[in-house]
Amino acid sequence: MAEKFKPAKYTINDFNRDYPDEESCLVAIVDMLYPAGIPCRACGQVRAHARLSNRRAWSCAHCGTHVYPLAGTIFAKSTTPLKSWFYAMFLMASTRCGISAKQLERELGVTYKTAWRMFTQIRKLMEEDGGPLSGEVEVDETFVGGKFSNRAHVKHSRNSLSNKVVVIGAVQRGGKVTTAVIPNVRKTHLVNLIAERIMPAATVFTDEAKGYDKLGGRGYVHHRVNHSAKVYVSGNVHTNTIEGFWSLMKNGIRGTHHAVGAAYLQSYVNEYAFRYNHRRDASPMFRVLANRVTKTRYGIYGTYAPIGE
Ligand SMILES: [Zn+2]
Repeated sequence: MAEKFKPAKYTINDFNRDYPDEESCLVAIVDMLYPAGIPCRACGQVRAHARLSNRRAWSCAHCGTHVYPLAGTIFAKSTTPLKSWFYAMFLMASTRCGISAKQLERELGVTYKTAWRMFTQIRKLMEEDGGPLSGEVEVDETFVGGKFSNRAHVKHSRNSLSNKVVVIGAVQRGGKVTTAVIPNVRKTHLVNLIAERIMPAATVFTDEAKGYDKLGGRGYVHHRVNHSAKVYVSGNVHTNTIEGFWSLMKNGIRGTHHAVGAAYLQSYVNEYAFRYNHRRDASPMFRVLANRVTKTRYGIYGTYAPIGE
């Protein structure tokens, strides 16, 4: 039941045409952050700035105050060329299964420390808002780490799972997925995520795990598939969509990253959710990601002291 994965195309040639050099990357970011021009934080004048030579900074032509438009973005304080940042974003958004920090290190010719920092910063741009989901929604939990298995009887056994982390996911059929790393499969965690991210009018499909027993009481229409009796599909009652996402995610993590520490798991899961949620966008994933550069910027311009670069 795995859906064909055909994201909008954006090739390396497209990328090199749109962002041939450092300057084109800087202009793209500034245009996104300040479509109406950069306002001076001291005097408020717009479009009256002189570029400081060879820096990512401008000087206000009116009062001389230095303006740092990249302050508060993931690029602030970084000495890595913007073109490398953009290329890293291109690689992370374009590959089907993601790319590791180690691969970034090789592709960009930077140190591992720099590659890891870029990797985690770009991941922040991949966080999804998490709902709310409606219509037909499948909910399932899975264990990540150790030996992977999708079999229900393994999933619900409490033996030898201590090195695994629980992830709960909900997917709207034909729509988006949302996930959360949770401490255990007790019903409070399962039901809380559902109540938080799924509209009460939704129809929820789960397996027979006890943690979902109280869902009907929360107002949801609740259908369960009896995996332990080896029933996987009964009419529209199944959890194949969310299981398809789990296998995409696990194959990706296994193939690209090999192993993931529990502390970072949520950010890895977010990356796969991002890719899944934007798989049908008309706009290429790289552009979706690039447009989020504004997201990491804190505050409104003028409310914080500029950061020197
Ligand atoms: Zn000024």
